[in-house]
Order: sequence, then structure tokens, then C-alpha cells
Amino acid sequence: MKVSAEILNLIPYKTGKPISETKREYGLTEVYKLASNENPLGPSPKVIAAIKNALDQQHLYPDPVCHDLVHKISEKWNVPTTQIGVGNGSNEIIDLLIRIFCEPGDAILTSQAAFVAYQVCAQAARVKVRTVDLKPDLTMDLKAIADHFFRNPTAKIRLIFIPNPNNPTGTSVGGAELEEFLVRLGNRDDVLLVFDEAYTEYVRNPEFKAAAQFYQKYSNVLVLKTFSKVYGMAGLRLGVILAPEYVLEFYNRVRNPFNVNDLAQVAAIAALEDEDYIAESRKVTWTGLDYFYKELTRLNLPFFKSDGNFILFDTKRNAQTCFVNLLKKGIILRPVGNYGFPNYLRMTVGKAFENEKAIEAIEKMLAEIPEIS
Ligand SMILES: *Cc1c(COP(=O)(O)O)cnc(C)c1O
Repeated sequence: MKVSAEILNLIPYKTGKPISETKREYGLTEVYKLASNENPLGPSPKVIAAIKNALDQQHLYPDPVCHDLVHKISEKWNVPTTQIGVGNGSNEIIDLLIRIFCEPGDAILTSQAAFVAYQVCAQAARVKVRTVDLKPDLTMDLKAIADHFFRNPTAKIRLIFIPNPNNPTGTSVGGAELEEFLVRLGNRDDVLLVFDEAYTEYVRNPEFKAAAQFYQKYSNVLVLKTFSKVYGMAGLRLGVILAPEYVLEFYNRVRNPFNVNDLAQVAAIAALEDEDYIAESRKVTWTGLDYFYKELTRLNLPFFKSDGNFILFDTKRNAQTCFVNLLKKGIILRPVGNYGFPNYLRMTVGKAFENEKAIEAIEKMLAEIPEIS
């Protein structure tokens, strides 16, 4: 069978290494995973109760329009129901947006070291990926992205993806830069601006503004939200898109009718109700980040301050070697060589004792692997 060059060369998204696999491969009984930016608190007790309560209806197909969930989101986030779409994680939404709005040979534009899902989905759809360099402080350069768009009118750039805060860097773009970007590119009818706001609940940068708060002023601004991070539901798979009606009309035409399963729907309604859990998740994350800042400073390892629930730090060594060394100690972190950081690891904030275990293991590792001079 003939397969396109894009598919032949496609490097699939590399997920965090599972705990079970690490236990098996290294004969360990105690393993901590700080690799996938999951919420360390486990699901909200309200989510668990809602799921248990819905188990006896699982022989039925789920509600294809997610009526109750969409109304709950509308109420909690103050967005009209007609501007809310749902997906099997934001990953599915990214995939569908590219398939809907790009033809093979068209392009998407994003930043270097942006969340890699955009690239994987684009390549699978035979869509080109154009990137603009990060600034030296690893924040995205929105001005350069807008400049790139205007300088390349024949590149057929249909979608611009802005993950804010970004993963794996943890950096965010300030409100002034965002607004300037929107003044230049907002309300155009030849390009959609997709703000991927998976981590906004964790942001402490006082300059930050979420596009979710004012996207309605623009006809071409889309916002992606996820239930995988602060809502603690990564395993249930739920992403949300806030978008103008005409975008959602196409989106709902193309998506699988039952893309969001029933347990995810009831769970998300419960998660949206549990504001204490959200507050606790943020507190645990911020405390953990401050602990990492202190300890990485003590260990003399450079890092970037994070507006997410994870931190990117420089091991000053080959990060793949460090990653394997830490696996043997029962700590799963995330190498990010595929993003252009061969010496860096990304570490998710865990519970306090998990964070301490991770730092302990890193300290031992530093003594075992010589620094690159
Ligand atoms: C984790 C993450 C998501 C969430 O993806 P899901 O498919 O909803 O689990 C989206 N965008 C970014 C930048 C992320 O880091």
C-alpha cells in the first residue's frame, strides 16, 4: 500500500512512561510519575461519586451533544452555550481543527518548542508546520509570529497555535503582548488564532491575561481548555473549545458523534462544582513549585520559573542518561530532547512527599553522572 511521505516520516507523540511499565522493566515496587502534568491529588471525591452513580447507565450511548455538561460550562465560565464545543481531550480538538481548516499543503504557524501535538496532528494531515524562535527567556515571541504571518502571504497559514502558558517551557506571554497580537491579527477572515489555555489556572505572572476572558471580541479567536490538568481528569479525556458559532458548526459536523463518553460528561459536571478541589490543586502546585525553585537553586541547576504545574530544568548532563538513571531510582520525569532541549528534564509538581523523593533522586543522580563541561 502506498503511504504518503508525511505519514512515513511521522514521529508519534511520545507520552510519559507509565508507572506499571517502569515497575516491570526495572523490578521496582515503588515508582513515582512526575512526567505528564497530571494532577497529583487524584480525582475530586465529587467526581468519583458522580462516576459511581453513573455506572449503571453505561450500556447506553452517551448524550452526543453533551447538553448538561455544556450548560454547566456555560454557567461556570460565563460563555453562551452556542460557543462551546467538546472533544476527546483537547488533543482531538487540535486534530479536528487542522483537518477542518487546512488542506494538504496549507500551513499552521506556532512557536519553536510549542506543545508538540500541533506538529504531529498537522503532519498526519499533510499540513506544513512553520515555527518562530522563542525569546532568550523561553517565552513565545508573539510579535515575531505576527511578523512571520504578514511576511509570508503565500505560505497559506490557516491556523496559528499559541499555547499560553506553554508546555514544556512553563512560560507565559503577558497581556500587553497578547493584546498587541490581537490588534494585528484579530478579526481577520483568512486565519484562526488558537489559544491553548490548558494551564491558566496555575498562572502567577501578574501580567498574564487569558484569551478565554475576552475572545468574544474577535471573530477568529478560539480557546482550548482541558479537564486533564487542574480538574484532575486526564484518564477520562475531555477537552473544550470556546469559539464563534460558525467554527463550532464545522467542528460539530466533523467530530465523531460520541467523542465524549458518558463518564467524562458526568465527571466534568461534578468537577466544575468542586471549587475547593481546584483551590487545593492550585495551592499544592504553587507550594511544590516554590519547593522546586529552592531545591534546584541549592543543587545549582538552572530552571525556568513556571506558570504551569511542571518545571523545566537544566541537568547540565545528557538528559536521556539522567532520565534512565532516575527511572532506576523509581522516579519518572520527562526528557524533552524532541523540543530542542537535550540537557533538560521536565518535572511535574507532585504531592509534597513525591517532590521530596524526586529531589532526593536527582541529588544522587548528580553525583553519579559527570557534568558536561
Ligand atoms: C496537557 C496539555 C493539553 C491537554 O491535552 P488533553 O488532550 O486535553 O489531555 C493541551 N495543551 C497543552 C499545551 C498541554 O500541555
